[in-house]
Amino acid sequence: MSDTVKYLLDEKDMPTHWYNIMADLPEPMAPPLHPGTGQPIGPEDLAPLFPMELIKQEVSTEREIEIPEEVRDIFRQWRPTPLFRARRLEKALDTPAKIYYKYEGVSPAGSHKPNTAIPQAYYNKAEGITKLATETGAGQWGSSLAFAGALFGMEVDVYMVKVSFGQKPYRKALMESYGARCVASPSNETNAGRAILAEHPDSNGSLGIAISEAVEIAATRDDTKYALGSVLNHVLMHQTIVGQEAMKQMEMAGDYPDVVVGCTGGGSNFGGIAFPYLGEKLRNGKDIRVVAVEPAACPTLTRGKFAYDFGDTGHLTPLVKMHTLGSTFIPPGFHSGGLRYHGMAPQVSHVQDIGLIESKSYHQTTCFEAGVQFARAEGILPAPEANHAVRGAIDEALRCKAEGKSETILFNLCGHGHFDMQAYMDYFGGKLEDLDYDEGELAMALAGLPSVAAE
Ligand SMILES: *Cc1c(COP(=O)(O)O)cnc(C)c1O
Repeated sequence: MSDTVKYLLDEKDMPTHWYNIMADLPEPMAPPLHPGTGQPIGPEDLAPLFPMELIKQEVSTEREIEIPEEVRDIFRQWRPTPLFRARRLEKALDTPAKIYYKYEGVSPAGSHKPNTAIPQAYYNKAEGITKLATETGAGQWGSSLAFAGALFGMEVDVYMVKVSFGQKPYRKALMESYGARCVASPSNETNAGRAILAEHPDSNGSLGIAISEAVEIAATRDDTKYALGSVLNHVLMHQTIVGQEAMKQMEMAGDYPDVVVGCTGGGSNFGGIAFPYLGEKLRNGKDIRVVAVEPAACPTLTRGKFAYDFGDTGHLTPLVKMHTLGSTFIPPGFHSGGLRYHGMAPQVSHVQDIGLIESKSYHQTTCFEAGVQFARAEGILPAPEANHAVRGAIDEALRCKAEGKSETILFNLCGHGHFDMQAYMDYFGGKLEDLDYDEGELAMALAGLPSVAAE
């Protein structure tokens, strides 16, 4: 067999519907609650922030929701994305395991994020909204929404976590190239930002703080709504185009994964590749392991509490039940900015709680080591976030080697690292530290979780 093994789908085989895991869950999820009343929220509570079509998707229990033709037409620029068999990596590892990866770095923004940025901009535009406000960690989401804004002629304001703003200046330039405005967060443009700066003038920022700033802007302006790049049900659903394509491509390969691996920041690329497989497991009893990989410095699924919490630091969002480190927890400024969120998608939290998935955490240097090993075998340099999935997949392959098993491993290579070269320079310069979160700070953040009567 040749070492370059690529599975491509025809455009006509691109999925026409998103898959909604809500239809197949064996136990219902805990509802989002209004922070004031403690009662489940209704669509009208979300209306200041999101267009009605996305609110409907957020609460839908339909198994399939059609992808609008205009959205599919834009996707055709880079979708279906390729699936590769990592033959050279398998050889380098000398493993009997088969390793496959779905590559989302071929999108214009370089990651899976446009899969939801495009439909979010589309539905907002359709409901007369002219401007979107959002947060971004490493900048991938900000540049994806900026790209979508450019295509739909919408203004985009991006609040970028300050530590990443300093680490990744090229992401800001990319957002500006697409016509968006990018501001370091905490900023003094919002009450939420000013409150943080008053207390911590040197704050590194966090996704939780940046979300508060963007939500505040959206909630106080009629022409502006909020867009979130991960965590929410509709965002994970938009990403299921990835897993549905991968299923068809694995079929072309004549294989079915024993293990599916993804990295988790807010849970969207993981949900995107894993949920269509979990759906099959739930409907047909297909035997498959699903592994979520997260940073040891922000260990939401492995060390967080499954509890109701705010999605943001300023406490402007509804309460959702999720694995959380506490909304005031500020993770150390490590290099995978896209994974520095205190919470986790409620859907990913729920499937872990009912035992459908496993999770594990790694420190950053071992993830960069895996990413560099991957690049030397496969040629693609992964985003620092994606390195967590690479580490997880390599460890599964090494376990197969130790156990003499030829299992099939599939992972989501959710983005390339071309805008993250400073992180690689720091890694090669021996400057990356394996930061541990502060146990005391975590305990304090968890002690501050809101108490909820309905729990
Ligand atoms: C944003 C991002 C992540 C983290 O977000 P998820 O919602 O967990 O997918 C991971 N990898 C890349 C490349 C990203 O852009």
